[in-house]
Amino acid sequence: MGFMPRRIADFPQSVVRTVAQRAGYRCSRPGCPQPTIGPHSAADKSVNLGEAAHICAASSEGKRYDAAQTPTQRRSIENALWLCRPCAKLIDTDEARFPPKLLRDWKRQHEEFILKQGVPSLPEVVFNSINGRTLPPTGPILLSAEGLARTREHLLTVRNTSLYELRAVRCRIQSPEPFNSYRPVEVPAATRVEVRPDGLPLQVQTFGGGSVSGVAPLPRQLLVEASSLLPRESFSIAFVSLPEDDRSKLPFRVGLRYHILGSFRYQDSGFFVERNFIVALRFDRSRRQIVSRQPELDDGTRKKWIEQCW
Ligand SMILES: [Zn+2]
Repeated sequence: MGFMPRRIADFPQSVVRTVAQRAGYRCSRPGCPQPTIGPHSAADKSVNLGEAAHICAASSEGKRYDAAQTPTQRRSIENALWLCRPCAKLIDTDEARFPPKLLRDWKRQHEEFILKQGVPSLPEVVFNSINGRTLPPTGPILLSAEGLARTREHLLTVRNTSLYELRAVRCRIQSPEPFNSYRPVEVPAATRVEVRPDGLPLQVQTFGGGSVSGVAPLPRQLLVEASSLLPRESFSIAFVSLPEDDRSKLPFRVGLRYHILGSFRYQDSGFFVERNFIVALRFDRSRRQIVSRQPELDDGTRKKWIEQCW
């Protein structure tokens, strides 16, 4: 063992305790929030797996050292961040990736998260008709003036307003009009967005060697799924719809008419928890314009929504 320098700027016990309690004894790194306290095998003991990390190092050899800080500031709670051990190690192995400003943001966000009992807020979901057409042709498409006048374009934008990473962000759109094309407008680099027809597939059964021919209707129900969205990230997809025709009408009356059924997952103590929400869509039939309402938690009761979604 070599010489161990005395750790002159270690936090006082009161600072360690308070920073841990303010963090709810959970790691402050977004996406981690591991519990850092738990039972010991001895019935009268607990295990602490967290530590008060220095935002700016205690000594000049440490990471993110700030020469402008006084020794008192280095030992103060303002300079402490509660992390699990792997995350404490992580921030010290890559100083450039984890500057003090980012760590202070984590601390503020995590304390807010604890205040709200760790439930992320619903994403912002907007699905509105836009004027004109932004979709560029994907090939040498000749669009007649009449065809152009018949199409409507709508933009779906989903923004993560919570402090934590959202996974498997799904929007099942039930539209008043059938969709004929869509195009991603803006998708974060690390996010994969899939769009596919949803709802009942066209099923045809024939007996006795008969044959059926026809054209499959355009989908009015689409499932949009984004693999993940970091805090403040958003994605946008443009959709083109055509006037409703008889082929695309729903074959039966459903409880909820035009709406988006949404869901997302977030990590809580190592488990993925799913939350569901509903966005009611209003449709102005004469102008063929869609306007979305605020997303609301889907509590499983449909009565209120049946009235709102028409
Ligand atoms: Zn952690």
